[in-house]
Amino acid sequence: MNVLKKLYGDDIPAPVDVHITRWQADPFSLGAYSYTPVNGRAEQREDLAAPVADRVFFAGEATSSDYPATTHGAYLSGLREARRIQRL
Ligand SMILES: Cc1cc2nc3c(=O)[nH]c(=O)nc-3n(C[C@H](O)[C@H](O)[C@H](O)COP(=O)(O)OP(=O)(O)OC[C@H]3O[C@@H](n4cnc5c(N)ncnc54)[C@H](O)[C@@H]3O)c2cc1C
Repeated sequence: MNVLKKLYGDDIPAPVDVHITRWQADPFSLGAYSYTPVNGRAEQREDLAAPVADRVFFAGEATSSDYPATTHGAYLSGLREARRIQRL
């Protein structure tokens, strides 16, 4: 409301209802998207993307160094892993 009042003035009405998303608690989401924490390293995304014994491969936005937290990052990481498998 403080921000809205700065934008529209003190006379704006109070909200009739409020809905707050809790992505971490939502059983269908269990989270939102990854972020690099304070003191985190960008290279940690490459660590997440590292295959295990050329048998288990990891895609997903969290493994994308260039476009983390995005759908295109997730999509491109899938292509990256498909290419990796193709080269085996
Ligand atoms: C509110 C919100 C707004 C967003 N807005 C944008 C936007 O405007 N533009 C944009 O580019 N991106 C946006 N994003 C980010 C984008 O949605 C994600 O980066 C993208 O969906 C990640 O895709 P993913 O395949 O890596 O992971 P997800 O889409 O999270 O897919 C992971 C899947 O794995 C499943 N799963 C989890 N654990 C298990 C398990 N143990 N066994 C089996 N399956 C499991 C999950 O149910 C899920 O279906 C937004 C995200 C949120 C939450």
